[in-house]
Amino acid sequence: MSNEELWQAVLAQIQLNISPANFATWFKNTGITSQKDSQVSIFTPNSFVKEWLENKYGKNIFKILHSLDEKIKEVNFEINKSGLKILKRTVASIPGDGQLEFQELEIDRQTNLNPRYTFENFIIGPFNELAQAATFASAKNPGQVYNPLFIYGGVGLGKTHLLQAAGNEIIKNFPQKKVQYLPAEKFTSEVVTAIRNREIESFKSKCQKVDVLILDDVQFLAGKEKTQEEFFHTFNALYEKNKQIVLSSDRPPKAIPALAERLRSRFEGGMIADISYPDYETRVAILKAKCLERKTDFPEEVLSYIATNIQRNIRELEGALNRLIAYQKLNNQPPDLDAAKTLLKNLVSAPSKVVSVKKIIQTVADFYDLKEKEILSSSRKKEIVKPRQVAMYLLREELKSSFPFIGRRCGDKDHTTAIHAYGKIIKELEKSEQLGEELTLIKQRIFSG
Ligand code: ADP
Ligand code: MG
Repeated sequence: MSNEELWQAVLAQIQLNISPANFATWFKNTGITSQKDSQVSIFTPNSFVKEWLENKYGKNIFKILHSLDEKIKEVNFEINKSGLKILKRTVASIPGDGQLEFQELEIDRQTNLNPRYTFENFIIGPFNELAQAATFASAKNPGQVYNPLFIYGGVGLGKTHLLQAAGNEIIKNFPQKKVQYLPAEKFTSEVVTAIRNREIESFKSKCQKVDVLILDDVQFLAGKEKTQEEFFHTFNALYEKNKQIVLSSDRPPKAIPALAERLRSRFEGGMIADISYPDYETRVAILKAKCLERKTDFPEEVLSYIATNIQRNIRELEGALNRLIAYQKLNNQPPDLDAAKTLLKNLVSAPSKVVSVKKIIQTVADFYDLKEKEILSSSRKKEIVKPRQVAMYLLREELKSSFPFIGRRCGDKDHTTAIHAYGKIIKELEKSEQLGEELTLIKQRIFSG
């Protein structure tokens, strides 16, 4: 078998077991340099990819090669210094350089989509695998598989990226389909304008003409009754015609406060998938992928430092990388670990990142759509008591505060109230999955916001 044929055979098998995005990221511009005696040499475009392939896919690649040709006993990876021609056929299904290199391209006026968000550059890990798979399936078969599709998760974890990737993918596969991406805030302001200008009918019919409606951050509809009503009509009209609806939110439908029951049950009627926090390996993979996109390279220990210290927000991972890139440009060399630590000091351990009592109470109030003062009040209303107990529980769990302190800070209550609240939430958590989910989301916000 020629080098090319052999590598094609390997890739064909690898491709079966990994996502298209990961495949594109790690196997682009790879190939076999030589087959000598029992050894096969594989070239990779740079040291990141080399290490990644060695560590993550090395065993698998060897197994496949060995199964294809028993004489092969060893595989080694090298960096493609000799400028070997890259196998055209191999990369045919992989996006070309131009696509991976992000120039901030114009946002499409018609669809509101930003072409920089694609499935190809979306890295998959255990934390977002289900959400990605569901979104990808919907994009391949709009309106047919999951409708509506509802993606939820904390700040900076890839919801907008996924939703827009779906839109871009649909346009690519079905150029005739009308796709509309809208942040829920924009939808709301359009409703308000339409009402003011007495154009609600034409607004309605405009909304109902699309084939795919993507509404980002639907938690913004909370409490906006008129907007919810308009959205309900649009939703039904599209749904009945099997038009794909994709939604995102920072929490599951049942945890969105002041959402009309009929809308909630519509949201729950389709597929719901969440995105949680990326694990360490995926954080490193994301950093490496972003380095590749930016055609840059940093010492492994620097990337590992970032991935260890920024855990809960992918946007912040990117932010850290941007700082290092700026340094590199200025100094004509990549920062070493010490320089990186200094550069990232305020990102990694910014004083604002230290969780405070205030932050916890504020976040809980926000989450349940209450004012801080309501949490601190002595109201016995159910919709206030529970959030207050949640705040007390979190103060105990996250800050290890004493019960007298918790009582005092939650509106001058007795320490027995704090003890009771803490116990109540613990007991409740055993019974209620929903409460567990709410706490996860609140914590995500406390730590990533
Ligand atoms: P959210 O809408 O959940 O707040 P975004 O979709 O805006 O988050 O993501 C924040 C940033 O992180 C974006 O620049 C996005 O491209 C990037 N990002 C998020 N998830 C991934 C991923 N799995 N792979 C690559 N980039 C990601
Ligand atoms: Mg977003």
